[in-house]
Amino acid sequence: MFVDTHCHLNVENFAKDFDEVLKRMKKAGISQVINVGCDLKTSQKGIDLAEKYDFMYATVGLHPHEAKDFTSDLWANLESLAQNKRVIAIGEAGLDFYRNLSTKEEQEKVFKKQCDLAKNLDLPLIIHCRDAYEEMYKILVQEKAKKVIFHCFAGNLEFAKKIWDRGWASAFGGMLTYPKNEDLRVIAKICPDDLWLIETDCPYLSPQKFRSERNEPAYMIETAKVLAELKRVDLQDLGKIEERNVEKIFGIKAPSKK
Ligand SMILES: [Zn+2]
Repeated sequence: MFVDTHCHLNVENFAKDFDEVLKRMKKAGISQVINVGCDLKTSQKGIDLAEKYDFMYATVGLHPHEAKDFTSDLWANLESLAQNKRVIAIGEAGLDFYRNLSTKEEQEKVFKKQCDLAKNLDLPLIIHCRDAYEEMYKILVQEKAKKVIFHCFAGNLEFAKKIWDRGWASAFGGMLTYPKNEDLRVIAKICPDDLWLIETDCPYLSPQKFRSERNEPAYMIETAKVLAELKRVDLQDLGKIEERNVEKIFGIKAPSKK
């Protein structure tokens, strides 16, 4: 069975057909999901869902796009949400110097605070990184970040090796299935077997087969198929490896092992 390690079932796009989405997910062999928070609202919603469904977990974080809205009140609220026992990671946090919806200074300040929070709570940090690889690496090293997941990994091979050397993980999503992304497939193929995860980032970034549709956890299996082929293992064994990695990185067990 698989775990969708990064999704956003905590956004409006799923309000209408939520139960159908869950049914299709179970049928596709996805047993657990981690709903990632990008601001106060989605972090809270992720926790609400995780308290309702035992196969869902939540993260609490402030996306770099939201860094401009940072206030000490907002931060106090996030810190208190992060204490919830269904919260298994901090993020999505990071730097996005491509869209620059917040200034670099705002992004770095908010990112460092989240590095601190993750360290204090001994939780992994889920990273969003775009056009900011060197700055990101520098801050993570400075902050002595321990457990790190590069969500939707899109760096180059050299950067991939740099993060793996530190024991940080790379998560692969729908982009792994896009015809143009041969470089990414080369990276996934040689990624150490204890340092990868699979995710959808739904409702965004649908795999190739569903490119024009809203993404959802069931579609993760398309990415898993590509990874299984690259790793030369069957799909079932790939699922077992992912469960093991999820347990090691996030500390959550597969339902069958509970
Ligand atoms: Zn995301």
